[in-house]
Amino acid sequence: MKIILRIVIFGLLTILTQIGGIVYLIAILINRRIKLKMKIQKFGLFFGLYCISTFLIIPYLAPIFGREKIQNTEYIQAHSFFYKLANRNYVKPELNEALQEIGIEFGEKHYGIKLSYLDANFPFLDGFPLLPHLSHNDGKKIDVTLYYENEKGILSNKKKSISGYGAYVVPKNEEVDQISICKSRGNWQYDFPKYLTLGKINKELQFSISGTRDFANIIVSNSGVGKLFIEPHLKSRLNLTNPKVRFHGCQAVRHDDHIHFQLK
Ligand SMILES: [Zn+2]
Repeated sequence: MKIILRIVIFGLLTILTQIGGIVYLIAILINRRIKLKMKIQKFGLFFGLYCISTFLIIPYLAPIFGREKIQNTEYIQAHSFFYKLANRNYVKPELNEALQEIGIEFGEKHYGIKLSYLDANFPFLDGFPLLPHLSHNDGKKIDVTLYYENEKGILSNKKKSISGYGAYVVPKNEEVDQISICKSRGNWQYDFPKYLTLGKINKELQFSISGTRDFANIIVSNSGVGKLFIEPHLKSRLNLTNPKVRFHGCQAVRHDDHIHFQLK
């Protein structure tokens, strides 16, 4: 029974954080020597090792394998500390560079407004997916948030979901409803992220058409960027005409809660 539980914990930590499962095994091996008794002590050992690995070791190890931590600046931030804690904030150096350029250009145009990123990639191994995003497996992909404005129409850094996912800007009656099309084709997973909000917040905020349009146009005008994914009804509502703006396909999840972009 204990073995099964340990395999499940190992699997979950690996899926969620990539290195967590290995750190968990190391903690078990160390505890065979030091023999901690209480659960809280064992958890403390694991969590201490995990934090040392995540914040002090991996950032120096990942570049050897071709990825680096996203550099947070006055223009760029993780939407939630979770993305940094779970090692989901690694990219190829070229993507880090593009992010910095996009963040600066947007932040200088909209003073004080930051680029907020969600899931990027794990630190190691091409082909190792960052679930639930199967394609985030090569250091070239990243999800970023949409923009919202307050009652006075002023652009805000606040978002409408705690995780950053699952708070949708739904199609209006006259707009293409790709969500219904994909779900009617049997792609049940298409709106699965509605379960991943961890709570909806800031209900007073409105989707910012001008802010999000500016942001998307700055992304696609960056020479390093190859593609941007957004839901078709938002593509037309924002009047995005650059050929880099594509539809991701029904096998993915809907993109009217976030924007995905990737290197060439
Ligand atoms: Zn994505």
